[in-house]
Amino acid sequence: MGPLVSSLIGANVNLNAIKHNLSIVHAKAPKSQVMAIVKADAYGHGAVDVARCLKNADSFGVARFDEALELRRGGIEAPVVILEGILNANELRLTSELQLDLVVHSKYQIDLLNKQQFPGRVWVKVTTGMNRLGFPTSSLGRALLKLKSRNVVGIMSHLASADSNKAFTDAQVETFVSETKSFSLPLSIANSAGVLSFPDSHLDWVRPGIMLYGGSPYDRAIPELKSVMTFSAPVIAINKIHASQSVGYGRTWVAEKDTRVAVLGIGYADGYPREITNGTVILSGLTRKIVGRVSMDMICVELEESDSVAVGETAELWGNILQIEEVAGKSNTIPYTLMCGVGNRVRRNYF
Ligand SMILES: *Cc1c(COP(=O)(O)O)cnc(C)c1O
Repeated sequence: MGPLVSSLIGANVNLNAIKHNLSIVHAKAPKSQVMAIVKADAYGHGAVDVARCLKNADSFGVARFDEALELRRGGIEAPVVILEGILNANELRLTSELQLDLVVHSKYQIDLLNKQQFPGRVWVKVTTGMNRLGFPTSSLGRALLKLKSRNVVGIMSHLASADSNKAFTDAQVETFVSETKSFSLPLSIANSAGVLSFPDSHLDWVRPGIMLYGGSPYDRAIPELKSVMTFSAPVIAINKIHASQSVGYGRTWVAEKDTRVAVLGIGYADGYPREITNGTVILSGLTRKIVGRVSMDMICVELEESDSVAVGETAELWGNILQIEEVAGKSNTIPYTLMCGVGNRVRRNYF
C-alpha cells in the first residue's frame, strides 16, 4: 500500500519559520524574556509540536488549565503559564502537581490559593485599559498583601488597542509602569503588536502570539516574518460548465461562457471562511478565482483556458504565496480567526 495521504495536503507547518519568527522577537526585544503564547492549540498549529520546537522561549502561555495539561502530557517540561488562572480547587491542586504557573486576576482565585498549598509561580494581573481580566491598579497592593506567602514572580497587564491606537497604547504602558513600579516586580504587557511597534512596552517579559506564526496583528503582512502555515487542498474534480449553468448552493455564480471549474476538497468545516467575497486560491503558482459559495467540504475555482490542471494537484488557500492577511481582509476577519479555525479533520504536517 502506498502512502495513505499526500503529504502536501492539509496544514503544512514550517517549524523553521516559527524559530525564525522567535528570533525576530529576540531581535526586537533583546532585553526581555519571552513567554511564547501557544493557546488555542498554538493558534491552530499544534501546541505540543510548536512548544517542542521553541526551545529558546523562556516560558509558554496558554489560556486554560486543559491546554497546560496537554503540554505536560506532550512532554513539555518548560514553565507553562495559565493566563486565565484556575477556576476551582481541583484545578489548583492539579496545577500544583503539574508544576504549572498561574495568573491571578480575581479575588476568588486568591481565596482558592489561600486555602491550599501552592508552591508554584504566580503572576498578578491588573487592568489598565482592557477592562476584561485583572485587578484595578488601585487594589494591587491589597492583592499582593493577601498573596504574600506566595511566590509572586511578576505583574502583567494586556494592551487594548496596540494594533490601532498609538496614543492610547503609549498612555496605557505609562500607566502600567507608573502604577506598578513601587512593587519592584517583573512587568509584562506586550503582545505581538507591542513587540513590533512599542519598544517602551517590552519591559521584563514579552508575550508574542500571532507573530510567532508569521501572522500580523495589523491588516497588512509583516515582511520580516515568515509564514508558518501553508493551508492547501487537492483538486478532486474538474468539470465543464456550460454558459448559463450555475455552480454551488444558491446558484450565486452563473457561467457567462463555457468554463472549466476545478472542485477543491476543502470547505468551511475545515476552517475555510464561508464569508469570503472575491476569494482566490493559488493553483500551479497562479491566482484563480473562487466561484459560487463555499460549502462544508468543497470550494469551486474557475480555470482559465490555458490551465492544464489535473485531479490530485494541490491548491494553496493561504501560506507562502497568498498571504493570510489578504484572505482575512476578504473575509472581513483577522488572521487570528483563520489560523485558530483550521478544523480538526485537517491534517497537520510538520517540516
Ligand atoms: C493571546 C494573548 C497574547 C498574544 O497576543 P498576540 O496578539 O497574538 O501577540 C498575549 N497576552 C495574553 C494575555 C493573551 O491572552
